[in-house]
Amino acid sequence: MSASAPAAAIDAVLPQTQCTRCGYTGCRPYAEAIGAGEAAINQCPPGGAATIAALARLTGKPVQPLNPRNGVEGPDKVAVIDEAACIGCARCLPPCPVDAIIGTSRRMHTVLYALCTGCELCVAPCPVDCISIVPRTSLPAPAVPAPTAAQNRERFVAREARIQRRAGERRALLEARKRSAGQARSETPAR
Ligand code: SF4
Ligand code: SF4
Ligand code: SF4
Repeated sequence: MSASAPAAAIDAVLPQTQCTRCGYTGCRPYAEAIGAGEAAINQCPPGGAATIAALARLTGKPVQPLNPRNGVEGPDKVAVIDEAACIGCARCLPPCPVDAIIGTSRRMHTVLYALCTGCELCVAPCPVDCISIVPRTSLPAPAVPAPTAAQNRERFVAREARIQRRAGERRALLEARKRSAGQARSETPAR
């Protein structure tokens, strides 16, 4: 395929962790930049050599090593929460692109290893540093396989849709309240 491969085809070979290590806000923006000829094909550490090879086939560009400025290709990883140290602040929930953390406010939080991509986006927001990123193979048995790119995409798309829907509901509620307040003012008799 040519260097003008469509973004959707490029996105389809990316790991969908949305980790931002490529320097873009997620896999799709990186795919669009590659499609537009604005980004190199060697900027995705989670995909590593396999993804670079797939991108080279798609775009017709030569295979090149992963750019070390974007990170290194490593073993599959997961986030682990030190549950004894967790203060239940819930700050780790919003950054997770695949909703892999469960917990409610002021309660212990935990990671669903079958969903976690090891993207590390939950680590920095934790105020007590109780989230570690560890190799998946270090988890206690039985082994939990890593999610596939298709599963990551499905969960990310569902999460984005939920965020959009809630934002729409909030806007509608605000509008309704404004209308209702305006109506109440217009019905108040002048003194
Ligand atoms: S998985 Fe790769 S393409 Fe997707 S955000 Fe991470 S580095 Fe970028
Ligand atoms: S739990 Fe953390 S490391 Fe795992 S997918 Fe969510 S944000 Fe990424
Ligand atoms: S950010 Fe850290 S302390 Fe807060 S709920 Fe998540 S794991 Fe617990």
